[in-house]
Amino acid sequence: MTDTARELRAQMVDICRRMNSSGINQGTSGNLSLRHDGGFLITPSGRPYETMQPEDLVFMEFDGTYEGLRPSSEWRFHRDILKARPDIDVVLHCHSLYATTLACHHKSIPSFHYMTGIAGGTDIRCAGYATFGTAELSEKAVRALDGRLACLLGQHGQISLGKTLEGALWLAVEVEALSRMYVQALTLGEPPILSDEEMERVIAQMKRMSYGQAPDGDGVNDVARPKA
Ligand code: 13P
Ligand code: ZN
Repeated sequence: MTDTARELRAQMVDICRRMNSSGINQGTSGNLSLRHDGGFLITPSGRPYETMQPEDLVFMEFDGTYEGLRPSSEWRFHRDILKARPDIDVVLHCHSLYATTLACHHKSIPSFHYMTGIAGGTDIRCAGYATFGTAELSEKAVRALDGRLACLLGQHGQISLGKTLEGALWLAVEVEALSRMYVQALTLGEPPILSDEEMERVIAQMKRMSYGQAPDGDGVNDVARPKA
């Protein structure tokens, strides 16, 4: 094994443990994959992350062949998402409480709050239910993720994508926070929704910020800048 592969495996174990410590994951639910060396590394099935070791991660080819422990039962959607989405390299799945609460009611997250835009669109869709581990679930997940970086899975959980491991974990935690806000907002009735035009502005603003630029403010030249 190369030093790079060893380092990536260690980073994956770290992210898995942080899925647990951040509160978005519990028990042996959840799984994580990272594009690597023409295939991908994926968590083994049913292993608690507290005791999982870097060498327990499974290397899989896109044709479904693998080396080592049995891969996550959800390897199909990891494989299919990585295949369909060259824009991302990481797939993270968990059963975080509030995202799953919404998913149990097959509720997508609308733009009730501007942060819905973090997944790249005006909503975070909920995919229809299919049995875990099946090609049917994979197909539904890929569809719900079209043009998005996250989705809910009906009566199951959530999927968040990232260019990096840190990015995918960050997004999964944000999706969970947003889900919690939506569940709470719903207790006072269905909240109002931001317009598509406003969400376009929000998403453009988020893109600028992720490229390290200051937000555009209101189009007037009052942009915050460091002192010369
Ligand atoms: P694995 O332990 O096989 O990854 O399954 C956990 C899970 O979340 C199934 O959807
Ligand atoms: Zn699951």
